[in-house]
Amino acid sequence: MKSKKMIIFAFIATIIVIAIVFIRSGQKRDLKDFPQKTASNYLMNTLIQLRIYGENAEDLINISFERLREIENNMSKTIENSDIYRINENQSENGFVHISTDTFRVLEKAIEYAQITEGRFDPSIGPLVELWGIGTKDARIPRAEEINETISRVNYKWIELNSNDNSIRLLKDQMKLDLGAIAKGYAADEVRDILEGEGIESAYINLGGNVFVIGGKPDGTSWNIGIQDPRRNRGGAMASIEVKDKTIVTSGNYERYFEKNGVIYHHIIDPTTGYPAESGILSVSIISDDSFDADALSTSVFILGVEKGLELINKLEGVEALIIKDDLGIIMTDGLQNNIIIRDKDFYLSGK
Ligand code: AMP
Ligand code: MG
Repeated sequence: MKSKKMIIFAFIATIIVIAIVFIRSGQKRDLKDFPQKTASNYLMNTLIQLRIYGENAEDLINISFERLREIENNMSKTIENSDIYRINENQSENGFVHISTDTFRVLEKAIEYAQITEGRFDPSIGPLVELWGIGTKDARIPRAEEINETISRVNYKWIELNSNDNSIRLLKDQMKLDLGAIAKGYAADEVRDILEGEGIESAYINLGGNVFVIGGKPDGTSWNIGIQDPRRNRGGAMASIEVKDKTIVTSGNYERYFEKNGVIYHHIIDPTTGYPAESGILSVSIISDDSFDADALSTSVFILGVEKGLELINKLEGVEALIIKDDLGIIMTDGLQNNIIIRDKDFYLSGK
């Protein structure tokens, strides 16, 4: 009788132990327990942060930064012998400059967006960017004559690309290219391709606010990406978006600017006026599958303004946008409504 009781007791105890092990294994693991590597570096004029989950994360961090350095060496305006430097300094043979496939592809896409936006997005914006010097110690408000003269050197239609041998020619004197609005998007996609090609299923790529997430977090939950409060000196996130396998790219007038007599002069220039774009928008975030297009789009929508910007976004499959207007009204496309949390009550949902 006694031994029968013992057997039943042992049986119940075993079941309890098995149940505990089973329940614990089903609990979420701490993210710190997954093999991973995080690193940051200052490249492409911005802070780049990578977090990769996987056994080979350390190698892949190095490979990713190497690739980013290669892209910077091709597209930087200031690194001597970069493609863009050689084009801008007019170091040509018979007028043509031979460039890397990277730069060629970015220029093709930039010209495509210049056409779509009827020249509001323009990779030949260089002379105006230099004239204003926003973000540099030489930033200043140019005189009207200077602006008029400089505008006359900005027009993407004077960029001639030759795809037979990846060469380019600028058709007017003293033109200058600037890929600041699109190069980081291209670079983010390149890192995504490297990591996915190596079987990575979870990673966070942040190129100075140009974010790409691969998969969800390693525990299977979504990533929470903050949308920066566009008011100066606030810094924090005014909203967050839950995503997996998406890019979130923001263009904001708070990124680089100077203030004079209460007026903000920021870094996104409208080539039709020669002045920082005044479209009633503080920031535009694009949420989609590819950073290359998202980067070009965020800048384009910022300049186009709400109405024309939404018209463009709505024509595109799988592209969502969150626009914050001057009066802190938020406009977002339908696909975002369920994934976004507005954290700051100063902002309100606006019709248009
Ligand atoms: P983003 O932060 O992607 O919106 O890009 C802003 C950067 O793009 C600026 O700092 C300039 O280098 C460049 N840029 C400024 N205005 C324009 C424009 N109208 N079209 C294309 N690029 C521009
Ligand atoms: Mg952009």
